[in-house]
Amino acid sequence: MNQFVRLALLGVVFVLSGLVAVSPAFAVDMSAMSDAEKEKIRLIVKEVIREYAASLNEKQGHGAANSIVSDIRQANANFMRSHGPAYFKPFLDSQHPRATVITCSDSRVHTHALDASPDGDLFMVRNIGNQMATAEGSIEYGVHHLHTPLLLFIGHTACGAIKAASSDYSKESAAIRRELDTIQIPKGDPGLSSIKLNVNNQVRQAMSKFENEVISGHLTVMGAVYDFRNEMKQGQGRLNIINVNGETDATKIAAMEMMKEAPAHKPARAMPRPAPKKAQPTEAESEENPAPAKEHQKPEKQAPSH
Ligand SMILES: [Zn+2]
Repeated sequence: MNQFVRLALLGVVFVLSGLVAVSPAFAVDMSAMSDAEKEKIRLIVKEVIREYAASLNEKQGHGAANSIVSDIRQANANFMRSHGPAYFKPFLDSQHPRATVITCSDSRVHTHALDASPDGDLFMVRNIGNQMATAEGSIEYGVHHLHTPLLLFIGHTACGAIKAASSDYSKESAAIRRELDTIQIPKGDPGLSSIKLNVNNQVRQAMSKFENEVISGHLTVMGAVYDFRNEMKQGQGRLNIINVNGETDATKIAAMEMMKEAPAHKPARAMPRPAPKKAQPTEAESEENPAPAKEHQKPEKQAPSH
């Protein structure tokens, strides 16, 4: 829609609204209109408002979003350059993830903390408070259709959802209240004990839902707390496993077979360090003419046995 049409429509709306305001007779006419006619006017008004909002966006810039989009496109170009066809080949036609993972949406919690190459490997579900109740279908898809042998709930220190759920959130919108209602923790305690309690609640609910898979040994349900603040004194950035199939005793968990192999300090296998955000490709290495990719290969991982 060009500027002229927009102005014309604005004029039409202005005149219409003016007439409605000053003339009771016209208002009666409006009420006598057929539904189809009213709908037509409603659509015109909607379109004018949409166009007006769009023109404001263009003019006022949304500068912050522009530079973020530019960073994202640059990061993606770098990713494409360093990941050739061989990287994508193992999961081109189908996915066989090893774990269904539910984390909080918090921007400080990401898969690179637990998997150097999560592509094709982790079936990710994210929501505020790393919950089962608000993402049941997605979780069920991971367990029942993708048959992941591990279902992992990851809470984290300094969780805003836990803080909100432990306080009075009655003034939040209905949509946010719905997501907080399912976090069952005591009021007034936004700390580690509530964060752990929420993770344990999720494990319990999942074990109940997937009882058959757990009993038959096809599924392990695990709960963990990702601690980027070192509040648990186990090291900054540690994924602390606090629940395995309902077992929460730290000594018993530590003695489990899966915990025996101490993590070695191996170099990350696949994902490269991201390039500096503002780095621009040189003329010879533009998007259209990329430098030959130093290809990353998708590392071999043990396929789930089921
Ligand atoms: Zn959180």
